[in-house]
Amino acid sequence: MSQNLNAKIDQGLSIQNISKQFGDVKALDDVSLNVAQGEFFTLLGPSGCGKTTLLRIIAGLELADAGRIFSGGKEITRLPAIKRQVNTVFQSYALFPHLTIFENVAFGLRSRKFPEDEIRKRVHRRLEMLDLGAMARRHPHQLSGGQKQRVALARALVNEPDVLLLDEPMSALDARLRAQVQEDLRRLQRKLGHTFILVTHDQAEALVCSDRIAVMRQGQVRQCGTPEAVYDNPRDSFVAKFLGAANLIPATRVDGGVDTAFGFLALEKVPPWTTGTVAIRPEWIGIGETQPAVNGIRARVSEIVYRGTSFDLWLEPGPLRVRTSSYRRIDPGRDVWLELAPRELVILEDEAC
Ligand code: ATP
Repeated sequence: MSQNLNAKIDQGLSIQNISKQFGDVKALDDVSLNVAQGEFFTLLGPSGCGKTTLLRIIAGLELADAGRIFSGGKEITRLPAIKRQVNTVFQSYALFPHLTIFENVAFGLRSRKFPEDEIRKRVHRRLEMLDLGAMARRHPHQLSGGQKQRVALARALVNEPDVLLLDEPMSALDARLRAQVQEDLRRLQRKLGHTFILVTHDQAEALVCSDRIAVMRQGQVRQCGTPEAVYDNPRDSFVAKFLGAANLIPATRVDGGVDTAFGFLALEKVPPWTTGTVAIRPEWIGIGETQPAVNGIRARVSEIVYRGTSFDLWLEPGPLRVRTSSYRRIDPGRDVWLELAPRELVILEDEAC
């Protein structure tokens, strides 16, 4: 890790051994994470894995049963929410319907008794930045979903928090708008250099927005790393499947590789297990007419689905799901050679679930 990133981690958030129980439910089980200052960090996982609980503990809206939190080196574990340099944007934008957009954004500054000219300056700056300058006099019901979401962001950002927490802020938007807001959010975070922590169960959103992603399952962090690291090198079958389509192939270790239902597959590394799983992303599988030098599998196309920019293919024998990233259509019934290149095969640490 570079010295620069180390320094940023020292100034950022340190979450140490946090646990939280609700009755019989272990919402968080010994979670430790470091979020660097100025980082776009995402908590990704299925419903109920503990993402929101962790976000609420960071915000000071919930107290952990065990563990400690530090911000910029100072302990904030028991610091009341109001005293934390943290703002949260929730799933429901929770705008005040009777106030104009300007007044919605100004609300936090007014309650903190900022002088009027300072309020005007700050609110207008944020509205302009989020392309809402022309909306200042409107009321929330006169805005689209995406515009309301941007107002909620402006309202949080006007307070210049050290850390901005975003709890599924895009879940109410349609797919096109969601993609737009994701890009806006990423651009805004880069421009401001504030720390953003996003909660989402949408893997595509996490990949687009984040510097790093923590993949959570049942109250634990299964893997934490850059989008490329968790996508390209998932640690186990849960992470492999949650981050996108993956072919999970049960395997037994043999000399130089593994034995599978498709026969011998050469690997670059020796698996740490005797029986386990290797994974390959659909788009990493080569498809050709001639037998590849290594890891070739002869298979028949059984089904094809058009997806606009690519095709999904299903092949026999076995449930291998292959997506080509070209426009090439391969008709069902055709026999092809698949190449599962050794460098593209990921050795998972568990047996397929
Ligand atoms: P979602 O994506 O559905 O919002 P999540 O990953 O954010 O889920 P949490 O809301 O953190 O999950 O919940 C984690 C677990 O703790 C769940 O099983 C949930 O039912 C439970 N839980 C959360 N808050 C409470 C509470 N106040 N009382 C009882 N159980 C709770």
